[in-house]
Amino acid sequence: MDFLVLFLLYTLVLLLVVVFICLCSDHIVDAVAQIFHNVVPSWLQHITQNAVHSHCQSRNITFVILHLVLEVAVFAEYSWEILGACLELEFHWFYLLLPYGLLTVNTGFFFFSCVTDPGTITKSNLQQCLQVYSYDEVVFRRNQFCPTCSLEKPARSKHCRVCNRCVQRFDHHCVWVNNCIGALNTRYFLPYLGTLMLMAAYLALLTAAFLLQVVVLSGLMLGSYQDADRQEWATAINFIVQQLFLTFPRIVLLLGFLLLLSLLVGGYTCFMLYLLLTNQTTNEWFKQRYVVRAAGTVGTQRHSTFKNEYSKGLLGNFMEVFKPNVYFKEKEM
Ligand SMILES: [Zn+2]
Ligand SMILES: [Zn+2]
Repeated sequence: MDFLVLFLLYTLVLLLVVVFICLCSDHIVDAVAQIFHNVVPSWLQHITQNAVHSHCQSRNITFVILHLVLEVAVFAEYSWEILGACLELEFHWFYLLLPYGLLTVNTGFFFFSCVTDPGTITKSNLQQCLQVYSYDEVVFRRNQFCPTCSLEKPARSKHCRVCNRCVQRFDHHCVWVNNCIGALNTRYFLPYLGTLMLMAAYLALLTAAFLLQVVVLSGLMLGSYQDADRQEWATAINFIVQQLFLTFPRIVLLLGFLLLLSLLVGGYTCFMLYLLLTNQTTNEWFKQRYVVRAAGTVGTQRHSTFKNEYSKGLLGNFMEVFKPNVYFKEKEM
């Protein structure tokens, strides 16, 4: 395959990833619409925005299927090309089977993140939900009602417009698991993210080790090449990368995807860990920034430095997520 075709294919995959991330966020869609406001005709803007928003605002399994397709594609390529080649290069079988173990654990947490009730607030459990957290009167104020469910809003809860329900300790709605992340399933979602990051990073490491071994054994680094003017050059790193790209196009493509995924999921996992250890939700983190900014704008002192009232220390914060209240077990769906 021609180098340029491969490069274009590579760029296309990266762009697709960026587009999917953009599709996940209403805010980014709005921002993009603002940028192209003067260029794109208004009727086209209207149709596109409606299509994207309606897609984002109703539960659907598009991203769950995409998630599974990507996972199958990565493991098919790993099993088909990399595993056998690594065995021939005498990599220890334990290191080669470890990704399957990580996949099994990750799939388990993924499944529970998808199917577990995140903490739906209903008439029957409302009184219990109201007693769990106190109102900080900054982000969460008492006597507020959800206009859709007509239920009083417990502190730290939020109505999910995608699932059309109020959720206790609402974090966010995740399209990849097609479920809200709330009081009862954050304990599955965090290990899911952690194992996904480990799996991507470990597969990237294994793939890079395989390619490095190929370069060392082939003596590519010690060689030289001639350019169009028949001038002799010592092998440079870009020449080695190009050679690897031409010899193992799918494996290099996979490595690029895994590195990108490790960075994206790694960054997001770190953010979620920070929220876990400080006892905040993504929803609260965004609202607090808004409150602090609003206070700064009007020049008031009271809320200019926001204090998180819900933190109970590292162990307490950890236990709150991984050992949540059990009253939802008697839920009314
Ligand atoms: Zn509601
Ligand atoms: Zn939801």
